[in-house]
Amino acid sequence: MKKKSLVIVESPTKAKTIGKILGEDFSVVSSMGHIIDLPQKKLGVEIEKDFAPEYVTLSGRQKVLTELKKEAKGKTAVYVATDPDREGEAIGWQIKERILKDANILRVTFHEITPSAVKEAFKHPREFDTKMVEAQVGRRILDRIMGYFLSPLLWKKIARGLSAGRVQSVALRLIIEREREIQKFVPREYWEMEAELAKGNDKFLAKLDKIDSQKAEIGKKEEADDLCGDIKGKQFVVSEIKKSEKKRYAEPPFITSTMQQDAFNKLRFNANKTMSVAQGLYEGIDIGQDNPVGLITYMRTDSPRVAPEAINEVRSFIARSFGKEYVPEKPNYYKVKKLAQEAHEAIRPTFVSRHPDSLKTFLTPDQHKLYELIYNRFLASQMKPALYAVTSVTINAGKYQFNATGSTLTFSGFTAAYNRNGEDEETEKDKAKKNVIPALAKGDILELLRLLPSQHFTKPAGRYSDSSLIKALEEDGVGRPSTYAPIIYTLILRDYVRRIKGYLNPTELGFMVCDLLVEYFPKIIDIKFTAAMEEELDEIEEGTLGRLKVLQDFYTPFKASLDFAQANIKKEVITTDEVCAKCGKPMIIKWGRRGKFLSCSGFPECKNSKSITTGVKCPQEGCGGELIERRSVRGFFYGCSNFPKCRFTARTLPESKE
Ligand SMILES: [Zn+2]
Ligand SMILES: [Zn+2]
Repeated sequence: MKKKSLVIVESPTKAKTIGKILGEDFSVVSSMGHIIDLPQKKLGVEIEKDFAPEYVTLSGRQKVLTELKKEAKGKTAVYVATDPDREGEAIGWQIKERILKDANILRVTFHEITPSAVKEAFKHPREFDTKMVEAQVGRRILDRIMGYFLSPLLWKKIARGLSAGRVQSVALRLIIEREREIQKFVPREYWEMEAELAKGNDKFLAKLDKIDSQKAEIGKKEEADDLCGDIKGKQFVVSEIKKSEKKRYAEPPFITSTMQQDAFNKLRFNANKTMSVAQGLYEGIDIGQDNPVGLITYMRTDSPRVAPEAINEVRSFIARSFGKEYVPEKPNYYKVKKLAQEAHEAIRPTFVSRHPDSLKTFLTPDQHKLYELIYNRFLASQMKPALYAVTSVTINAGKYQFNATGSTLTFSGFTAAYNRNGEDEETEKDKAKKNVIPALAKGDILELLRLLPSQHFTKPAGRYSDSSLIKALEEDGVGRPSTYAPIIYTLILRDYVRRIKGYLNPTELGFMVCDLLVEYFPKIIDIKFTAAMEEELDEIEEGTLGRLKVLQDFYTPFKASLDFAQANIKKEVITTDEVCAKCGKPMIIKWGRRGKFLSCSGFPECKNSKSITTGVKCPQEGCGGELIERRSVRGFFYGCSNFPKCRFTARTLPESKE
């Protein structure tokens, strides 16, 4: 036995990267994720005994645990190097508790898996942070209590097999409330009027702003036509010119939420995909040298802080690649949110000298795109602001006042590395940039080339995308770096929400589940209440609040609602216009393990049931079946009515225009 120390991490890739870095004196093994958790088939929390959790070895994980115990024997030291956040701390703590309770097992943390960071971390192992573990255990118990008691209520009222999570339900409520706003929205027509003007050969656009010093408001086509007739005869005179310089500052380097938002806006990655690609980059990639290496820092974080060494490195890199004029006098500093603490650093490349282009052959296309995004955003965050020369012109034509604004980039600053806007969001500023205002002087008379009236309608707030939902959750204080992606994933898996063309559409089932929760548990799925619970969990980690207090604050109102709901909830029946072919009674909608279907209301006397077809033909040639909604453990999909003869499946309807 040559090995001296054992290191336990949670993933095989990470084990491989760290093993190479630490060398022969260490044996690095993976726990393959969670080994210990609350039991799967019962509550596992003794409510009367101060909510004592009953942790067990997960079924199927006994072998891994035995293996770890065997490995730990005879080692001079055992280190737990799971991820540097609450969950990592808790996974590690439980492994320690189960392996060798009395052995000296120490915790090692690092935010990047690079030789220098890992070696440095192993020089400073520490005891486990029990406050951090407490916060995670508290969260787990809260979630378990809610899920365990709510599921049977959903089964009683809607269908078996449904479940509801604590934070997911709040997210679902946001999505449902937005959908209702959209349904209720009545669009209002309005018109805008632009004038294409010229001075000599130079043309530009100006917009009608005021009529008789009042804000111009045009409601209908007839009004716009009348205005066109009246404006045409007027003389256009420049009455005011304002020139100014505008600065646009770079955004902070990525934290989990902003990375997920930008990856959606720019790359169309959903939150789950972003996190799994980022994990690969973090855990280590073989980049053609002898060792795999972590290319980015830890991807679950809500702190924009950057290590001083990394700031020095990026500043000299910017000076070399873009020029000294792009480097601000002092490093850009970004404020850390009060509650930011799950981890301690922004998401950034571990070495700025590893340019995305140089790694292209070692990365998958998705890894390359995300790495490039993280890389450029980090560079930009330490660059000077972009400068624009802005010209605003006021033009009078009789009682009509037009405005024109144009801006030109005079210094690219951080935009040389990164531009925030996604392809789909052209801002007013972008439009203004394209409108080049010629040199004008006060009193100049302009030629009116044409008037451009345009019709518009007010729009309701859009449906949430992964990006805007994460933004909303973060602003409301509900999500945490480790929860944004699982929240959306779970809602889709349960078919409460479907992602169509990138937007989150609630299903009928989603409406029913949400309405039940809002009716019977208004306080528990209140955003402010949930945000307060999240804050209390943070306070456990700070050591200012005990776990028991937090659990009681939750359980008291929850139990009151629960008792009422258990006594009052009744089965909800959704009747359809369809009539049973066997007995003539109306058919009702039911949800089963494989999804929604029609069942005879005469059940159990009449056992007739049928699938609900979408009316869309199966695209498989010669099949002639129709597509029907189905559910599996992997979530919702469309399958063919001729299954199992035809095995066609799709995530979205092939002919759907949505
Ligand atoms: Zn029937
Ligand atoms: Zn088919």
